[in-house]
Amino acid sequence: MNYEGMSCPKCSYGKLKAIGERTGGFSGGKAVVGGLLLGPVGLAAGALGKKRITYVCNGCGYTVEK
Ligand SMILES: [Zn+2]
Repeated sequence: MNYEGMSCPKCSYGKLKAIGERTGGFSGGKAVVGGLLLGPVGLAAGALGKKRITYVCNGCGYTVEK
């Protein structure tokens, strides 16, 4: 889900802006193994499971990872 432009959960007047993303805790190797065992479904699940996007509020500077 994309939270860009949503209201800040802390100050409620700022808007969230995506500042970066990372894939945490899940190696590409595991995604490949998932792809071998489960086919494209496993590969997609592995690729999507741990993606995190960091957002910062343009009002108060609050940062959150979704
Ligand atoms: Zn805020």
